[in-house]
Amino acid sequence: MMSLRNHLVLVYASFICAAVLLLGVVINRFAGTLFSSFVARNITVVSGHIVSSMEERYNPMAGVFDVPAVEALGMYFVHEGYIVSVEDAEGETVWDARSCDMGQCSAVIADIARRMERDYGLSGGFTRTQYPMRYRDRDIGLVNIETYGPFFYSESEADFLRTLNRFLLCAGIVFVLLSMVVSVLLATALSRPILNAAEAAKHIAEGDLSVRVSDRHGTAELCELSRSVNELACALEKGERWQKRLSADIAHELRTPLTCLQGNMEAMIDGVWEPTASRLASCHEEIRRLTKLVEDLSSLSILERDTLVLHRAEFDLSKLLTAAADHFTQAVREKGLELRVESGPSPLPVSGDYDRLMQVFINVISNAVKYTDVGSITVRAERLAGSVGTEQGAKGVREDRHYAVTVADTGIGISAAELPHIFDRFYRTDESRNRLSGGSGIGLSIALAIAEAHGGTIQAASEAGKGSVFTVRM
Ligand code: ADP
Repeated sequence: MMSLRNHLVLVYASFICAAVLLLGVVINRFAGTLFSSFVARNITVVSGHIVSSMEERYNPMAGVFDVPAVEALGMYFVHEGYIVSVEDAEGETVWDARSCDMGQCSAVIADIARRMERDYGLSGGFTRTQYPMRYRDRDIGLVNIETYGPFFYSESEADFLRTLNRFLLCAGIVFVLLSMVVSVLLATALSRPILNAAEAAKHIAEGDLSVRVSDRHGTAELCELSRSVNELACALEKGERWQKRLSADIAHELRTPLTCLQGNMEAMIDGVWEPTASRLASCHEEIRRLTKLVEDLSSLSILERDTLVLHRAEFDLSKLLTAAADHFTQAVREKGLELRVESGPSPLPVSGDYDRLMQVFINVISNAVKYTDVGSITVRAERLAGSVGTEQGAKGVREDRHYAVTVADTGIGISAAELPHIFDRFYRTDESRNRLSGGSGIGLSIALAIAEAHGGTIQAASEAGKGSVFTVRM
């Protein structure tokens, strides 16, 4: 199969050759037509000049022509391709080129006929035209001029035409060669990014995801192609890294509780431990925690791999926050805490996936409850300043809403060193591990992924021992 570069070169070259050929033929024809009409006009002018020159060779006193002068003039014009004969007023031949030098006349006639027929394909013949000569309103005779018709080129004119055609041919060849070079360069410039992209795609298919191609080309579509290949490699690399990290994280997170569970079960099977109700309940609790961990992982997997489908709907954010807080009524009562939701009297209309956003606030409030022993938890929703307005969208005018929901607690807080990591998957602060709170370190990762899928953010501010404030912006 022909390479893209050769294909482009072939197309460009054929096009350029055809264009140059056509242009050459058109210029040649046009110049030929112009030149032949110029030559035809020139024959008339020269004939007039012959007549007036012959009239000047008339001696009015003697009433005769100066024959030697007529002959000199006539022979000069024979060489130019004009066969001249002169008659006086009585019809007597004064001078005739044919009878003067028949050999010379025949040579000129044969030469012109051959040149016109062979070089220009014109098979005309010599035709005779008669011109009267006058002296002061008196007829003094006739000049007969025979020329090759409808026109003929003299030797110098034929030379001029040949030089012009040679010049056109040379210019055409130079132009074609130059165009060939340009088309090879152009075809190379156009095909190289495509070949590079194809090569990169082959490497990607073979598993080399580190491959990247330059996206600096002068052509928008080629830049787009290179960028797409790079983005594909990036996405695959990210996916591969994600998969490796997830597998490592899962193995790490599951190994400890499973080993623990296995040890406990074996101890009971071997009779080392009595299978008491409390020991079985502890094993059951561990299995329940592992099941929850697997469920969380599955949610996170969907969220982090961008396969999350949001079921957007319009709802009142304050109602969602109240419903989320209601989940913790019992837990809050048991710990003797106070949980308040402050969202103002008016509804806070929002568009989003109700269930997913519920999960965000459940995760954040659940942490606040988990890590607070005394004091209170306050959930506050407020419109961000300047967020109420209208925006001209494709479907008309719609309301533009931005909210900040803060969940503030008076709990154990998070140290400055650990704060930047709490949104990392499986990250748990030392304090939370010591408390055996049962967390898996996934809750905030899930909340962040959902918030980002809604175009929002989550930020945390905290001080160890003084409580934390989580702000969800949507
Ligand atoms: P977990 O399931 O362990 O709570 P998260 O991802 O929800 O996992 O939270 C990650 C870590 O961030 C927690 O282990 C905890 O150490 C810390 N954290 C989150 N919220 C709070 C909070 N309100 N107060 C103190 N620490 C918190």
